[in-house]
Amino acid sequence: MMLRGIPASPGVAIGKAFLFDTRRFTISIKRIKEDLIPKEIVRFEEALIKTRSEIIDIQEKITKEMGSHHAEIFNAHLLVLEDRMIIEEVIDGLKKERKCVEHIFAKVLDKYINVFAKMNDEYLKERISDIDDVGKRILRNLLGAEKRSLSELKQKVIVVAYDLSPSDTATMHRKNVMGFITDIGGRTSHTAIMAKSLEIPAVVGLEKATARIKTEDMLIIDGTEGVTIVNPDKATLKKYQARQSQFVRFEKTLVNLKNERAETIDGHRVELAANIELPEEIDSIISHGAEGIGLYRTEFLYMNRQGLPSEDEQFEAYKKVVVRFSKYPVVVRTLDLGGDKFLSQLEVPHEMNPFLGWRAIRFCLAKPEIFKVQLRAILRASVYGDIKVMFPMISGVGELRQAIDVLDEAKKELRARKAKFNENIEVGAMIEIPSAALTCDLLAKEVDFFSIGTNDLIQYSLAVDRVNEKIAYLYSPTHPAVLRLIKNIINAGHKEKIWVGLCGEMAGEPRFGLILLGLGLDEFSMSAQAIPEMKYTIRNVRFSDVKKLAEKVLTLPTSEEVDRFVNRRLDELIPALKKIRKK
Ligand code: PEP
Ligand code: MG
Repeated sequence: MMLRGIPASPGVAIGKAFLFDTRRFTISIKRIKEDLIPKEIVRFEEALIKTRSEIIDIQEKITKEMGSHHAEIFNAHLLVLEDRMIIEEVIDGLKKERKCVEHIFAKVLDKYINVFAKMNDEYLKERISDIDDVGKRILRNLLGAEKRSLSELKQKVIVVAYDLSPSDTATMHRKNVMGFITDIGGRTSHTAIMAKSLEIPAVVGLEKATARIKTEDMLIIDGTEGVTIVNPDKATLKKYQARQSQFVRFEKTLVNLKNERAETIDGHRVELAANIELPEEIDSIISHGAEGIGLYRTEFLYMNRQGLPSEDEQFEAYKKVVVRFSKYPVVVRTLDLGGDKFLSQLEVPHEMNPFLGWRAIRFCLAKPEIFKVQLRAILRASVYGDIKVMFPMISGVGELRQAIDVLDEAKKELRARKAKFNENIEVGAMIEIPSAALTCDLLAKEVDFFSIGTNDLIQYSLAVDRVNEKIAYLYSPTHPAVLRLIKNIINAGHKEKIWVGLCGEMAGEPRFGLILLGLGLDEFSMSAQAIPEMKYTIRNVRFSDVKKLAEKVLTLPTSEEVDRFVNRRLDELIPALKKIRKK
């Protein structure tokens, strides 16, 4: 039996299934006499305290084993524990309904989860798993239920679960978990992200895995393709064993590339940089061989907290990154709020078209007091390394000049304070709006570099909402319109002798990499895990071949034809990749 899901973390695992029980708790409703209500409140408070200390223990364990970045996830859990609204609602409910606290708390929890689930905001939707994870922990402590844990597995297994919370994943006994599969979840869920950094194969979103699989069933999971095979026959088993050893061998080859250059066979060199969201990701990008940070998404410093981060706090965060990474350039992108990224502490009104609305540089130019705090912090950190500043969502020269004016004001303020900063800090513009792409010859005269934001450029040029799965089939990086825009941006940049990078998801895919390389892109910025494979791709092709490939691609009339052509060329040019990845 074969089940298809979403590939979450690459690689093949073969072994026995272990069904991890994640059923919901059964809570009986007990009436509570009025004079015993204070006792229920105390029980609730004790459960909160116990949960808090459990989370802090897990955080310490994860910091030791996986680095502090992964431990950050639990800060959101701690915030849920301190949420006054939830706590007060439970206490009010107890007083009004006079029923046991387990029942009242479970009701409040469900209410919050339902409210978040209805929100049209990916970021808030993701918070559901945090609330659910903490909520279950509190309920377990209230009920005195046994702690479920994957930390005591006695033999090597493949974990099969309805869903795995970040704390399940983090406390998993890594030696004994060969891989895992879940019924729900998406490619960008915390669980999938953790599986990737643990480098164990995982498939999520299989829908019926827990219903179809029993503990002890023999399983093959292929995290590259997103499939699971239950009780395979001998021939299938053999095929996947071969694939597994190929994958392991290939991974070793990739690891060996860490200190090699990203250079084609005929000597054309490019820069492979990483996209980061938090300073804690720096270890991972160093271990994957990044030669720079092409996109530091700073909005994450503003999220999951009350109030805005101060100049000093931001300065420390940026400084931490450049000090650790001082040999390489670090492109700090200024606050890019809006679209699908919102902050609760800023009262941004609800809009009909948030992706076309008051976001990114538009918001910052309207709130120079907030914007300047960030610019001063970036400028002060520029003393410690090669920091560059980049503005998101620039629509044309007028807006770019306004942003540069605010940067100049921030510089003036620092000079008045006698604070040190790099007077000649390089300034770049993200090219992610068609109007900027079409006027890039003018923009190129006013900045030091461009970085093409294809995640947005594709959605705006094709009029396809990047988060709407119903029209995802239209969201195509290889649409001739997108490829022409990219080509023009690269050429306009080179004409003015500035470098051109690309930091959308497209930069981390080898087949698109061939086109971008052929078009002359200078810098590719992607998630750290994607770097080794891209380096391998670049090192195994000739610049002369990919230039021809890019020329040919620009004559093809549809995305389908482009995709077919580049997939075929990728297989021809780098047959080793074909065996590992399925296109
Ligand atoms: C982009 O739009 O391509 C990009 C890199 O920025 P973000 O995904 O943060 O909008
Ligand atoms: Mg963008």
